[in-house]
Amino acid sequence: MADVIEHANDPEPAHPTRLLEHAIDNLSLGLVIFDSKRKVVFCNRRYAEIYRLSSEQIKPGTAISELVEHRLNLGLKVLSKPDACAGERVAGSTVLELPDGRIISYTVYPMPDGGGMATHEDITDREELSTRLKRQVELGQAHEENLRIANLQFDIAINNMSQGLCFFDAEHRLIVCNDRFLDMYGLQADRVGPGTSLTEIVDMRFEAGSFPAMSRDEYIDWRTKVAISAEPSDSIVELRNGRTFKIRHRPRPDGGWVATHEDITEQRQSEVKIEYMAHHDALTNLANRILLNERLEQALGRRIHAEEAVAVHHLDLDQFKAVNDTFGHHAGDRLLKIVADRLRALVRETDTIARMGGDEFVIVQAPIADPAQATALAQGIIGSISEPFDLDGHQTTIGASIGIAVGPGDGLIPDKLLRNADLALYRAKGDGRGTFRFFESAMDHQMQTRRIMEQDLRKALPSGEFELYYQPVVNLASNDIRGFEALIRWNHPKRGLISPATFIPLAEEIGFIVPMGEWVIRQACATAAGWPDDLHVAVNISAVQFRSPGLMQVIVGALAASGLHPTRLEIEITETVLLHNREATLAVLHQLRSLGIRIAMDDFGTGYSSLTYLQCFPFDKIKIDRSFVKNIADNASSLNIVRAVAALANGMGMTTTAEGVETIEQRDRIASEGCTEMQGFLFSRPLPAADIERLYLARREAQKAPDRIVAA
Ligand code: C2E
Ligand code: MG
Ligand code: MG
Repeated sequence: MADVIEHANDPEPAHPTRLLEHAIDNLSLGLVIFDSKRKVVFCNRRYAEIYRLSSEQIKPGTAISELVEHRLNLGLKVLSKPDACAGERVAGSTVLELPDGRIISYTVYPMPDGGGMATHEDITDREELSTRLKRQVELGQAHEENLRIANLQFDIAINNMSQGLCFFDAEHRLIVCNDRFLDMYGLQADRVGPGTSLTEIVDMRFEAGSFPAMSRDEYIDWRTKVAISAEPSDSIVELRNGRTFKIRHRPRPDGGWVATHEDITEQRQSEVKIEYMAHHDALTNLANRILLNERLEQALGRRIHAEEAVAVHHLDLDQFKAVNDTFGHHAGDRLLKIVADRLRALVRETDTIARMGGDEFVIVQAPIADPAQATALAQGIIGSISEPFDLDGHQTTIGASIGIAVGPGDGLIPDKLLRNADLALYRAKGDGRGTFRFFESAMDHQMQTRRIMEQDLRKALPSGEFELYYQPVVNLASNDIRGFEALIRWNHPKRGLISPATFIPLAEEIGFIVPMGEWVIRQACATAAGWPDDLHVAVNISAVQFRSPGLMQVIVGALAASGLHPTRLEIEITETVLLHNREATLAVLHQLRSLGIRIAMDDFGTGYSSLTYLQCFPFDKIKIDRSFVKNIADNASSLNIVRAVAALANGMGMTTTAEGVETIEQRDRIASEGCTEMQGFLFSRPLPAADIERLYLARREAQKAPDRIVAA
């Protein structure tokens, strides 16, 4: 810039031409005047500044081409040219960009004399401004477009929402709502729009019936309270038309709010259903265990007066399994439903009936002022359940056993009361079913004893604590031993020898009889295999063993392992074996018979149907129960029964064994009535295998069996 002329400092006095020159020099435009030979006539200072030229380079007479060349040397870029481009002879602007970023616009004005004038203007700032303006305009347009798209999308979005949506302003007037909102409340689109007030909408809803179970004013009151609270809130509103909506209210900073309305009717219904299912038994619609516990807890906690009590009845149906087995599960289900209905008819509003699964029910009777109320209900239940049931044409009768525990005396918490009612039920069942028992503290003790015995029993088999005793069965006429009945004994490590009457019912109940019975069969066959060939062994098989699969294999396996001939094995069953699944049981009995195994009916006369069962299977032997033998001397009916059975058996080709013969008199009586065999203490008590060997078998070869040996 050093060579730029500083005219401002010119000391010469002002002259009009100089003044004009001075003014032109200070123009913001660069100006070049050239003659027809395209030589500089005049060039102002601004021109020299724009192109960084010295006064020497622009002095008059300089060829325009030099100036052009100089400009080109600067490395400029042409941004735009006039439309009819004819260089500098034609008026029109050319826009250049210099390497330093400045933008110059120049225009050439031809003059009549063939010369011309060119103006050069630095339009950098103007260009920048216009570029910025342009960008702003563009941005504005883009923004507008974005807004338009966003609005469109918003419209699509809100009108396709599954929820109703509405915006209200601070004056409680609608700004916008979607179609779903209108649909949900049955509102007409032409009556609802921006500016509609909340109250107007509420009124329209009132007309449409899309309104909760409260008055219009109450609802407006509530809705306004929500609206002005400035707190976000979620509420569930049940409408009179049966729909349930969830309203999410969200205040906006300007005092208005946005609310979404969701139809949760189906969701609520399934929630209610799930809740119901979680607390009820699906078959009977009675309470289930969970609900029972809740109710029992409430009942125990709610006792207002000290004398108020809560009775828990634990009910178990008798012979339900037989109904299921005989008529099928469908009939069983039907029976349970009828039982539920009969129970419902017997209880009060405040009582709870629950099905605990299977054929077990619990009734919470609360409150009661006197245990006599519990007695009355239990009696009512037993009476009602023992009425006949019609199961789709099948008439059947069952019974009910009930255990009762009364809180708080028998327990302060549900668990304890239920457990004690269960103990009482166990007793009721043990006492012959069809009855009820109140809990007594002794039952608890008995149950513990039972539990201990159960544990001991399971250990007894691997520990080798069982032993078989054998009792001789003697021919009455010849006094010869025909065989022995195997009778199990338990050598308990602490309690000593335990009789089967004590542990067999428990073993049957817990299913332990199956492995235990298997051991008995194997052991008896193995022992008997060592006896003389004409002696048989009798083994007792319980009903539970008959119900478990594999009995046949066990017996066949025991015979094979011992080498005992099947004709030497006798199976003793009681009539309970034939009580259930008679067909299947008979099939097994026939299979056993076909192998040559003898089948005896034990304890004949103690059940109700002994005679009936004699018809359905050709037993080899009848064992007349001890109770008849015992009374034979002084009870005419016992004598008659023994006589009749002996006659019947003889007629059918069956052997008769009198059990429990203890006296010579009894022996003589049964002999004269026609019995063929006897078994009893008179001849011998049951003895360990070794004693049998020593007392009877070893001497048998040498001499005839003694007339009477009573073992120690
Ligand atoms: P049960 O099969 O009727 O056996 C006869 C029972 O009468 C035996 O009692 C026997 O000891 C007893 N007894 C025999 N003669 C007399 C007598 O003159 N007077 C008296 N008072 N009793 C006599 P035990 O051995 O106590 O067996 C009782 C019951 O236990 C048996 O009755 C049988 O039902 C069952 N039992 C025994 N062992 C087994 C077994 O291994 N398996 C199965 N399932 N049950 C068995
Ligand atoms: Mg027996
Ligand atoms: Mg018997």
